[in-house]
Amino acid sequence: RTESQGKTFTESQAFSQSEIVRLLQGDDDDWLFAAAARVNRQAFNRQVYLRGIVEFSNFCRNNCHYCGLRAANRKVERYRLTSEQILSAVALIAESGMGTVVLQSGDDFTYKADIIARLIRQIKSRYQLAVTLSLGDRHHDELALWREAGADRYLLKMETFDRELFAASRSGTASRPDANSRTGADYDERLARLKRIQQLGYQTGSGVITDLPGMTDEILARDLLTLTWMQLDMLACGPFVAHQQTPLHQSPNGDVLKSHRVSAILRLMNPDANIPATSSLDAIQPGARLQGLTRGCNVVMPSFTPQQVYASYNIYPGKNSASDTLQARLSALKQQISHLGLVASNARGDALRNPYVP
Ligand code: SAM
Ligand code: SF4
Repeated sequence: RTESQGKTFTESQAFSQSEIVRLLQGDDDDWLFAAAARVNRQAFNRQVYLRGIVEFSNFCRNNCHYCGLRAANRKVERYRLTSEQILSAVALIAESGMGTVVLQSGDDFTYKADIIARLIRQIKSRYQLAVTLSLGDRHHDELALWREAGADRYLLKMETFDRELFAASRSGTASRPDANSRTGADYDERLARLKRIQQLGYQTGSGVITDLPGMTDEILARDLLTLTWMQLDMLACGPFVAHQQTPLHQSPNGDVLKSHRVSAILRLMNPDANIPATSSLDAIQPGARLQGLTRGCNVVMPSFTPQQVYASYNIYPGKNSASDTLQARLSALKQQISHLGLVASNARGDALRNPYVP
């Protein structure tokens, strides 16, 4: 471990692209998973950070080919929570003692910048909570306003850093249908937005969808190198899950083991980053999300989305499908974490990394 600006950093391991490809192909799983678990222990001392997530709108103006919330999907029952409903869900997160609230939605511009800013201020004035936003492709000035209002973190997954695969997977927005023909334009905008988020001083997260149709191990390896090069604070990678009401409905689901390898490799290259075990793991193989906590992940994000709309945040099949109450889900999760010999932690769990200034 080394010291920098008063913080302690765990030594990271560098891999070449071909070494990553070999690890992705299962060349040395025993070593990889054991090493990732060891580095996890060094960096987080067996703690697993719990973040309460409120999925407050499933309206989206975009048409990502993989996502069940895409604008063209007329079969989703759409909902929007009011500020009061969002604050009630946040109150439950605060009462449960968790240190972070994550606000997530489709790219829903009905929530104007000042509505979100007021929400952030209300949360920050009432509770000692870190606020993470995951609201998609919002304007640079909106991102600046929310940072000023007190938001701590922003999660914007590139899904892949491969320009062609990105263009093939995320066609233009509903409000800008012409973007479809401007191959790569959205790519540059999203990447610029990600860099802007870092410059604004957010703890910044990005990530990829593993086994996104068209992704090869070479692309994935390059993605992991780029994520590492960007010195991100949060690295969110989960497997592709095919949704019936999307153009990719016939593509196979992602491989859970491959996604675990990705988290483990990222852990070794980014020892101090926060790496969530995503719910898409469980959607493919129940229990795989927990297993991820023993293979490099250190964060889980239980949903506090109100029960009456919970199941409608159906990004992919199996997402928000549990019929248990929120309290029952939460206590089961905590028990499962402790059965793994880990500790469910309510700490804010801020990233320990040096901010990257591009
Ligand atoms: N609209 C915002 C955005 O796209 O950044 C945030 C909400 S979006 C539903 C959150 C994440 O869901 C995306 O970043 C994507 O990685 C993930 N996602 C969507 N569809 C998926 C699928 N079929 N399989 C796996 N992950 C998926
Ligand atoms: Fe919208 Fe996000 Fe789904 Fe794309 S991934 S359709 S931006 S909710």
